[in-house]
Amino acid sequence: MDYQQFFSDRIADLKAEGRYRVFADLERQAGRFPRAIRHAGSAADPVTVWCSNDYLGMGQHDVVRSAMRTAIDEVGAGAGGTRNISGTTHRHVLLEEELADLHEREAALLFTSGYVANEATLSTIGRHLPGCILFSDEANHASMIAGVRHAMTEKCIFRHNDRDDLEQRLRAADPDRPKVIAFESVYSMDGDIAPIGAFCELAAKYGAMTYLDEVHAVGMYGPRGAGVAARDGVMHDITVIQGTLAKAFGVVGGYIAASASAVDFIRSYAPGFIFTTALPPAVAAGALASVRHLKASDAERRLHRERVAALKRALADSGLPVMPSESHIVPVLVGDPVVCKRATDLLLDRYKIYVQPINYPTVPRGTERLRLTPTPLHSDADIAALVSALQAVWKELSISVSI
Ligand SMILES: *Cc1c(COP(=O)(O)O)cnc(C)c1O
Repeated sequence: MDYQQFFSDRIADLKAEGRYRVFADLERQAGRFPRAIRHAGSAADPVTVWCSNDYLGMGQHDVVRSAMRTAIDEVGAGAGGTRNISGTTHRHVLLEEELADLHEREAALLFTSGYVANEATLSTIGRHLPGCILFSDEANHASMIAGVRHAMTEKCIFRHNDRDDLEQRLRAADPDRPKVIAFESVYSMDGDIAPIGAFCELAAKYGAMTYLDEVHAVGMYGPRGAGVAARDGVMHDITVIQGTLAKAFGVVGGYIAASASAVDFIRSYAPGFIFTTALPPAVAAGALASVRHLKASDAERRLHRERVAALKRALADSGLPVMPSESHIVPVLVGDPVVCKRATDLLLDRYKIYVQPINYPTVPRGTERLRLTPTPLHSDADIAALVSALQAVWKELSISVSI
């Protein structure tokens, strides 16, 4: 076997399909969000970022930066071990208490990322509950799919956000077997939102537990930023809430919030929690400051909603194919991977606007798109510059797809 040939052939396949991914080499500039420097060879150009998941700019907020600086100076860089072996620092404990309070739960548990939180929790629950059936929304994130797969138990994929399809499948299943319904609140590529209340009613009716990924909603929805379930008044009907500290909270790390016994179970049985070094305490301190800030302050969320509405309006007024979205995520349809990549290259090279092309397998083929994420810090001038650049690019590439 020529291994090197194998690797380069698979890369050639991606390039032929137009979905080979190229990283933009960025240097974010604290205090100048959403501005960054883009490095390309020896060139360094200022760009405006329109695709960050640091949705509220908290990654550069003074309270977060100063909490991290202070923690580094007080306790140093790394945690020094797994949570079991000397890696549970006081800042981890405080952050877990804060997250439990955010979601009005008895307990919370940190993971090194949201991906790991999903993979570790779903796989551990599915593996240990005897005869468990995992009901999983077909649009669930790769990390939930990994968790379902590693659970090595029966899975049942239901149609996206489809209450009736889920009920049919629940009804058809053995009433005595344990069941988990796993889904997200905000789906990050279309920006649509799950019928959380309806799914919780089904869970109660068929004796299932619920597992909700609020990764794109924590910090952003609900009066204290606890997510869409909190906004909709159904947070207490969810068995396990999962979130990230990396998106609206602007740092890194993942977590679950649940009952004391559920959290203790995952803490004690999940390899993805047990066998890896704890997050740096400074990261926990930064996340703690961010969660606390967004719990108390609604200003970022209000301004963010207003900016999202302004962008959606400007795109619609200009005739660009903005896809319907109930949330803060603003997808613009291109419908072809090669054109999508060319459009984003043009935006970056000519207009100094950075938007990442979203291609298969992140979205279905034929629905390739730009995924715009306005933040409270994008100005009216930023929106106007974006819309006019998009119009010029649409014209130059003769993009004619409509919704
Ligand atoms: C980003 C994402 C994750 C993973 O979170 P990280 O903290 O980035 O690992 C999980 N679920 C969904 C829906 C996501 O979009």
